[in-house]
Amino acid sequence: MQRAKGDQTTAKGTEPDGVGTNFSIDTVTTINEKLDACPETSPLLVGLLRIEFSNPVSLDTVRSENPNLQNGGRFKPKDCVALQKVAIIIPFRNRDEHLRFWLYYLHPILQRQQLDYGVYVINQDGDEVFNRAKLLNVGYAEALKEYDYDCFVFSDVDLIPMDDRNTYRCFSQPRHLSVSMDKFGFRLPYNQYFGGVSSMSKEQFLKINGFPNNYWGWGGEDDDIFNRLSSKGMSISRPSGAVGKCRMIRHDRDRKNEDNPQRFDRIAHTRETMNRDGINSLAYNVVKVEKDQLYTKITVDVGRK
Ligand code: BGC
Repeated sequence: MQRAKGDQTTAKGTEPDGVGTNFSIDTVTTINEKLDACPETSPLLVGLLRIEFSNPVSLDTVRSENPNLQNGGRFKPKDCVALQKVAIIIPFRNRDEHLRFWLYYLHPILQRQQLDYGVYVINQDGDEVFNRAKLLNVGYAEALKEYDYDCFVFSDVDLIPMDDRNTYRCFSQPRHLSVSMDKFGFRLPYNQYFGGVSSMSKEQFLKINGFPNNYWGWGGEDDDIFNRLSSKGMSISRPSGAVGKCRMIRHDRDRKNEDNPQRFDRIAHTRETMNRDGINSLAYNVVKVEKDQLYTKITVDVGRK
């Protein structure tokens, strides 16, 4: 544990007593705490974790196990100043059971990682075709309205890291975090794969004009993001296969998230489209904002295909 350095100042105040004389207030002490920066590697990490999905968890259990969270799913370490301010963005629709597991496992991990973080669940309103990448853009924009985040982690709701050394923060290059998923036999399905969980600094995100808004349905949007990054000369940073292990909660394909047949054509043209389709062309309407101890849930109308 890091010790907080305290600048202790004692202010002697004066207050009128109503008869023209002053009296001194008994030792009013203000402590202007100056905390050290958190270390590069958190001393609280434990390494490999046991992750299983057999017993459902309730939100009340997760709330009582995470008493240090602030409303909206916010946290910052008490004993040191976090190195990064991280907004975690989860694209969402009708996956409450998965979200409960995600919150159950991730909140303790993120706190051990000593991050100053907030969890944003971006819920697509209505039942039109799902648009993952546009929801991620919305999460970026909405999170920034609340706090001066400098790092954004984009995570599917059904992916849980199996090792807390896989820090959910940003790096000098865009980061792919879900590098060895059980679903793919604990390896990358292909080298350019950038799906699942990734992170980008604000600067990296803006350099690629954010994410595409026109990938409706399943697939391709993560490949488009990869194309954007490589067209701007960036490379992908990754943890080792051991540290990057993660489990996916098994599920059937959602309704209204069928394979997007246009994805191959779109991916082939990323370089031509990315400057006009992205965070600079994002349009949506916020329908509802809910603040829970465990998350900020923003329901949005992202339009339709
Ligand atoms: C799709 C990606 C997907 C990957 C792995 C690719 O064919 O375009 O969106 O993440 O397969 O399932």
